[in-house]
Amino acid sequence: MSNFFRKAYNVNLPKSKRESEEFGGGKKGLVLCKKCTSAYYKKSWHHDIAGLKNYEKDWPVHFTVCPACQMIHNKQYEGRIKIKNIPVVSEDRLDDLIRGFCHRAFERDPLDRLINLEKSLPAGRQDGSDWTVTTTENQLANKLAKKIKDAFSKVKSKTKFAGDPSDVVEITIEFS
Ligand SMILES: [Zn+2]
Repeated sequence: MSNFFRKAYNVNLPKSKRESEEFGGGKKGLVLCKKCTSAYYKKSWHHDIAGLKNYEKDWPVHFTVCPACQMIHNKQYEGRIKIKNIPVVSEDRLDDLIRGFCHRAFERDPLDRLINLEKSLPAGRQDGSDWTVTTTENQLANKLAKKIKDAFSKVKSKTKFAGDPSDVVEITIEFS
């Protein structure tokens, strides 16, 4: 885990869309992630305990690993975008877009994360690298792919869902 994920944010987070199945949702108490210090209370994950009332801060504390850290630890992902044939002139802008977009998503919801951004230039190619982006949430990958399509005119994409019982989405974007 990079320091990026350890940083605490003092922001008022909207209620996460994710109801927790694992923690018996709504049970009184506070659950902290050992890896990223995200806090689970009131049925969702938060960056910190700023949203708790004073008396609630005396609640019993349990330690666990949050779903996002667990997924990263298991080398799993829910969203993967393969971006192909990226011209050198577009690389900086695309890198900024991906990191910025995922960072803002993470600020809103500690479970929304960029896991990895892997770059490679296939042998024999002078220009046109291939990148693979993995995220903890399929919706994050979907929205990011849409953002990339909006930002760059000469791209086409296709989306594939792995299907039940998996939530994994695989998206391919190709620069032409
Ligand atoms: Zn965590």
